[in-house]
Amino acid sequence: MTGATGARTTGGVSYWWADLGIPEPQDPLAGDVEADVVIVGAGYTGLWTAYYLAGLRPDLDVRVVEQRFAGYGASGRNGGWLSASVTGGLDGYARTHPRTDVARFQLAMNDAVEEVIAVAERHGIDAEVRRGGTLLVARNAAQAGRAREAARTAARWPETGARLLGADEADRRIRVAGTRAAIWEPHCARINPARLVQGLARVVRERGVRIHEGTTVRGIATGWVETDRGTVRARHVIRATEGFTAGLAGERRTWVPMNSSMIVTDPLPPLAWAEIGWAHHDTLEDFAHVYSYAQRTPDGRIAIGGRGNPYRFGSRTDLDGDIPDRTVQHLRAVLCSWFPQVGEVGIAHAWSGVLGVPRNWRATVGYDAASGRGWAGGYVGTGVTATNLAGRTLADLVAGERTERTTLPWVDQRARPWEPEPLRWLGIHGLYRAYGLADRLEARGGRRTSWVATLADRVSGR
Ligand SMILES: Cc1cc2nc3c(=O)[nH]c(=O)nc-3n(C[C@H](O)[C@H](O)[C@H](O)COP(=O)(O)OP(=O)(O)OC[C@H]3O[C@@H](n4cnc5c(N)ncnc54)[C@H](O)[C@@H]3O)c2cc1C
Repeated sequence: MTGATGARTTGGVSYWWADLGIPEPQDPLAGDVEADVVIVGAGYTGLWTAYYLAGLRPDLDVRVVEQRFAGYGASGRNGGWLSASVTGGLDGYARTHPRTDVARFQLAMNDAVEEVIAVAERHGIDAEVRRGGTLLVARNAAQAGRAREAARTAARWPETGARLLGADEADRRIRVAGTRAAIWEPHCARINPARLVQGLARVVRERGVRIHEGTTVRGIATGWVETDRGTVRARHVIRATEGFTAGLAGERRTWVPMNSSMIVTDPLPPLAWAEIGWAHHDTLEDFAHVYSYAQRTPDGRIAIGGRGNPYRFGSRTDLDGDIPDRTVQHLRAVLCSWFPQVGEVGIAHAWSGVLGVPRNWRATVGYDAASGRGWAGGYVGTGVTATNLAGRTLADLVAGERTERTTLPWVDQRARPWEPEPLRWLGIHGLYRAYGLADRLEARGGRRTSWVATLADRVSGR
């Protein structure tokens, strides 16, 4: 039976955490301390940085400070796509960087997918990995045009391994109603996000790093961070707060916190799976401008996500993943349009999270050796794999090592700040309305990408 909202549970951080059990915060900071490195935020970025740093420099005293518990943010709430996709796109980087460097970036992302899986295996983290690649489906003529365009891009960047599939071939992987064409990319696996972050936090602690949970940072400065439980002084100070960054003093316009929302169904009956297929657990997305993304869970549910309310005035972030009823209904409508046979399936849980978006829509990792301050984030919703590469790169930079990673194009990307309010709110909501309109126009016919979307792309600077 579904509740008034259409989902039996809403918020509660995420389905992934509710399933595992929300942890009690451990080891809160007990007054002022001195350390070598302090990392703010215990999501994947902060934890991967700590993991590699503890390996490279076991002599350093590394502390992670986290307002709630490790994995409370997007890292414990996401769609579980461990994907090699480069935020900002390869063609975009090729306009500002040598082609060989851009190709190297893609190969590093491909490797990072393998690295996450290998680290999980090495340390007995059961992240429920299924390697099925990614299927991106085109469901109208304009979307099919974008799929062909994506295939042309892939031909320029063979490092992605992406290829165009006809409707029949796509259907043999996953039967999404109305598929006309698809792109399939090999470098992706589905994971259980909370299991990965929980396991990673355990391993990081085993490597001697202290994670001070239940400790909120109020200010970050050169040489120290101030928390509600004391001050941590350290030579190296790393900001790994991603979608929450706007809440820190002086960072309100650095990256906007964009929302992404998800629902998960009850397990589908075997008959439904027989019709849908999805035997390889590919992650799944469509070519809509306001796209939706999904995965099949190992216990036979569908978890599907999309934009919902894109942005809250003044860069406010949510707390426990609450989600309005209309977003649940929207995601259910997308689910039923992709898979009409799921009909009245129950929605077990609905939640949301925030992700960070820089003004140039490109993720970044940076470190200033003079001040000892570092940061990584702005993954625009594709951070599950990128956080691994970012954390590894930050560890290299803090350790003072020049590696293949420290010269990749995303290192030290600077974007201008977002516009002040109310322009920011008006702009972001205006853009998402325009993309929604473009999707509706394309669904009515027309073989090309709607001019509305082309204009919105130009305005947004994507
Ligand atoms: C619903 C949703 C679906 C997504 N799906 C995918 C996907 O399928 N694939 C993909 O690649 N990416 C996806 N993403 C994006 C991906 O989850 C993120 O890019 C990634 O998890 C970012 O990790 P992070 O460690 O940088 O940030 P977070 O995981 O958000 O961690 C930041 C941490 O900092 C802590 N923090 C913040 N402020 C403070 C403070 N003042 N003091 C102390 N601690 C603080 C937070 O509590 C949090 O734990 C999705 C995101 C969302 C929200």
